[in-house]
Amino acid sequence: MTRLCVALTEPDTESLLAAMHDLPTGVDLVEVRLDFMKECELQRVCESRDRPIIVTNRPTRQGGHCEGPEDVRLRSLRQAAELGADYIDVELDSVGNLGALPGTCGRIVSHHDFQGTPPDLDVVMKRIIDSGADIGKIVPTASRITDVAPMLDLLRRHAPERKVIALSMGEAGLVSRILCAKFGAYLTFASRERGAESAPGQVPYDEMLDMYRLADIGPDTRVYGVVANPVAHSMSPAVHNAAFGACDIDAVYLPFKVDNAGAFLSAFRPYDLNGLSVTLPHKETMLALMDEVDEEALRIGAINTVACRGERLLGRNTDIGAAVSAIEDAVRRSDLPGLDRCKVLIVGAGGAARAMACGLKGRCGRIVVANRTVSRAAELASEFGLEHCGLDGMGNVDADVIANTTSVGMWPNVDETPVPAELLHGGMVVFDAVYNPLETRLLSEAGAAGAMAVSGIRWFLNQAVAQFEWWTEQTAPADVMEQVVRQRLQGE
Ligand code: NAP
Repeated sequence: MTRLCVALTEPDTESLLAAMHDLPTGVDLVEVRLDFMKECELQRVCESRDRPIIVTNRPTRQGGHCEGPEDVRLRSLRQAAELGADYIDVELDSVGNLGALPGTCGRIVSHHDFQGTPPDLDVVMKRIIDSGADIGKIVPTASRITDVAPMLDLLRRHAPERKVIALSMGEAGLVSRILCAKFGAYLTFASRERGAESAPGQVPYDEMLDMYRLADIGPDTRVYGVVANPVAHSMSPAVHNAAFGACDIDAVYLPFKVDNAGAFLSAFRPYDLNGLSVTLPHKETMLALMDEVDEEALRIGAINTVACRGERLLGRNTDIGAAVSAIEDAVRRSDLPGLDRCKVLIVGAGGAARAMACGLKGRCGRIVVANRTVSRAAELASEFGLEHCGLDGMGNVDADVIANTTSVGMWPNVDETPVPAELLHGGMVVFDAVYNPLETRLLSEAGAAGAMAVSGIRWFLNQAVAQFEWWTEQTAPADVMEQVVRQRLQGE
């Protein structure tokens, strides 16, 4: 099982020991970064450690902060080993000058590359092995997501025979810090908290343990994830990992920061990729890469879900059905006659409006699309045979259902609303695709007017539930998924 090591970047002995003693038992080791410290009583650190420690004193040429003379730097590592440190981390380019260590101390021989991922990873690994390393460590930077694949390949070939640490730095490399556990890495690194990273792309240890369930990841763990750019703020990893955890499914869901969908698929399919959520800007390009897509996806020209079934890639659009059921459920719970007799006003004409229009077409009495840029409303309306108007024409619609699909009112512009309050009244349903905040100004004014207010969280959850059920062929733990989204949104 891959161990979890928290790299501590505290400035002095006192705060380092306090931080170490604060860590839960799920953290197996701690890395003491001497190059981050203004002072360090090594003897005290070694005597007071409550778990194995790695002592590192990284020079600036390898991305660290130690600017002192090389002999003093290497002496600090020898001293740590003599005082009882469990491991020291020494760079490949200086291991030859380190000298002998007591047999109780393991020697991690490392190589870092802050510029990118070199093509000669095997050559570097051979030099590390030849140097007499107890543990070999290669940490390049992933300039793009496809740089992670050769690292997984390296692990797959070397980890069965020796102790290896291989992961990628940088935002695109984040997934390697988790996936390396599937391919047998000796350990992976985490930060103590966000903002305390010792290397770019580190994830806080509590996310590694609780969200990604690192301790449960092994060779059979199936890989899922969201393909997006940007991806950092996606809630999907929290939601789907919680769902896998609640159902005791051996799977992990990762945030893939992807710039080229085709290159990503080619690089990652050999690594047990089972399913993907797809979001901006890849929904259209990903469709073209599928072996098979469902009818709704074809109609709208975009997919948001991929299932990898053997050699075949299947694409679906769960956004459309999810939007329709969010509206249908609300109408059913209201006093309105059936949806087929309702007048629906879709506000907006972007991607969300298109999914909504595509799903609702043929199910409602009448649909009008209103948009700031009237020509876009006209275009969308003509595509699906609907009516359209500008935002100033919304008052003439006398809608039973208003669905906002614009981003107006989204955090941080929470004081904005796309629909004047005088158009809201009791008996109607008001849906807002925006779900951050949970209660937008539009929804709070709808509630005050006596309308039924429906948050976009329903749409988000419906599509996530549909994805989970398609991938796993099991009922999704919808309550758990909703709780995660609500906690995340309320925590912001
Ligand atoms: P999009 O394609 O960029 O479209 C944005 C729409 O918002 C356009 O109609 C645009 O009008 C309008 N708009 C933007 N700023 C405006 C303003 N200040 N005043 C009036 N109209 C404005 O974006 P999208 O993908 O459709 O997403 C729109 C929103 O839906 C986002 O907040 C997104 O998070 C949300 N969404 C939620 C879910 C869910 O699961 N709940 C799913 C999909 C999307 P113009 O054409 O005039 O620019």
